[in-house]
Amino acid sequence: MIKSNQRPLNDETGATGVPAEQLAALKAIVGDKGLLLPSEGGAGNDLLPYETCVRYGAGKAAFVVRPATSSEVSQVLACCVAQGITVIPQSGNSGLVGASTPDATGTQGVLSLDRLSGTMELDEDNRSVTVGAGVRLSDLNSFLAERGYSFPIDLGADPRIGGMIATNTGGARFLRYGDVRQNTLGIKVVLADDQGTELDFMSGLRKDNTGVDWKQIFIGTSGVYGVITEAVLNVERLPKQSAAALLVPRDEAAVLPLLRALEERCGSQLTAFEGMSAEAMACAFDHVPSLRNPFPGGELPGYAILAEVSRSWDKRETEESLDDLLEAVLAEIWEFEGEPLANAFIGRPEEMWSLRHALSEGVKHAGKLVPFDVSFRRGVLMDFRAAMAVELPKHFPEVRICDFGHIGDGGLHFNLAIAKDDPRLTDESFIPALRNWVVTRVTDFKGSFSAEHAIGRSNQSFYDSYTPEKIKSLAAGLKDLTSPGHLGAVKLG
Ligand SMILES: Cc1cc2nc3c(=O)[nH]c(=O)nc-3n(C[C@H](O)[C@H](O)[C@H](O)COP(=O)(O)OP(=O)(O)OC[C@H]3O[C@@H](n4cnc5c(N)ncnc54)[C@H](O)[C@@H]3O)c2cc1C
Repeated sequence: MIKSNQRPLNDETGATGVPAEQLAALKAIVGDKGLLLPSEGGAGNDLLPYETCVRYGAGKAAFVVRPATSSEVSQVLACCVAQGITVIPQSGNSGLVGASTPDATGTQGVLSLDRLSGTMELDEDNRSVTVGAGVRLSDLNSFLAERGYSFPIDLGADPRIGGMIATNTGGARFLRYGDVRQNTLGIKVVLADDQGTELDFMSGLRKDNTGVDWKQIFIGTSGVYGVITEAVLNVERLPKQSAAALLVPRDEAAVLPLLRALEERCGSQLTAFEGMSAEAMACAFDHVPSLRNPFPGGELPGYAILAEVSRSWDKRETEESLDDLLEAVLAEIWEFEGEPLANAFIGRPEEMWSLRHALSEGVKHAGKLVPFDVSFRRGVLMDFRAAMAVELPKHFPEVRICDFGHIGDGGLHFNLAIAKDDPRLTDESFIPALRNWVVTRVTDFKGSFSAEHAIGRSNQSFYDSYTPEKIKSLAAGLKDLTSPGHLGAVKLG
């Protein structure tokens, strides 16, 4: 039976809202090292890193429980379900929608998966790796790189595998390799039910149509249906050659023709097509001093695209280099009617990627940031940008648009920055009104209000408003079937 998760702050335990005997039961499962409790008076709080998310401030945890195996996750969940305790699964805590940390009540526990590292096992014949859900992306990729492979989801943070699966991370090379869903061949999951049921979908098969593909319901659903403890992932050959260029389109209308022309000429060797606005680049140069400005005279174009081509083999003697290929392709495009390309610079890929990956950090310092992770059909994305450039100042003057995006897959990080001393920030209704207005316009353009960050507290209200009732009731039914306990920060039903 599931009890209510409303529990009073308890005198027996002092700082935490969970009774001492329940904490003792958790400690019996995970040992001393596996349970962190708030300190009396909050001094020297070890829980702080688990309570604080990248954006949207900090909550307050009743405890942090850190199981080291799938079986311990199972026992922890069974125990929390029996006691009616809410637990929030947390991996790398790099999520951007406020879904991996507890709320402010002090009654929720964090289920940290950071000790679920296990061993990594590469299967070269299957081109897959079996990995614990707590492994960091960087550690997985170091392990794979030594063997000539990579897990090809590329982003400016270092999440853990379980969190990546629960959010279905996209990243900057989606265009070529797809998202986490496309690269997940198997998972092990523990349900928040009274048994802590473990489900094994770890076959690693690339083809399997023997009924419902259950693993899919745990991918991109923010951990509400179960806790991922292990995975089998597709890996790719590590690129051995790459070349990159910064392209300056004639105007917004020229961006999609450039993408189509590159896709036609480079095929699957085109691995990225990332858009960067002048405002976003300026923030990166202002706030990341190590960055070198690659544009002649340091003058930033209104919009630039980072295009990358790569190959998984060493250059053969008779083969043209990728720099030459890119140069030849750009020369052809240069001659196009209407001249979609205003300028282009071929340069060191690492330098160009440093700029691309510094944008997130840069825009964080641009003022009070109001971020959106939205997506559109590819042909609509630049129309949305153009419409916003005209409409936003009319409705919300002096709000800077510092956007960048994965244009090749229709994704846009539509970041708005407001000066920190803007008096409108003292009005509590100002940011909600701005956010609602933008999301309404996103839906007018038939886009998604969450492209690759999944659902969290920050966009729950949009989920509630824009998801059809029938879908919500199906999601609620699925929740009752899988994990009826109080799991996760998100409500999909
Ligand atoms: C600088 C920066 C750049 C970023 N760039 C990108 C980008 O390009 N593309 C992109 O998609 N994202 C990006 N992100 C967002 C973030 O890195 C991803 O969402 C990431 O996949 C989250 O993984 P995590 O391990 O940090 O998960 P967490 O933040 O710990 O958790 C995320 C969600 O998953 C749930 N969860 C965590 N672990 C599990 C588990 N084992 N089982 C079930 N549920 C679980 C949590 O409850 C929460 O709902 C970026 C973040 C930063 C800070």
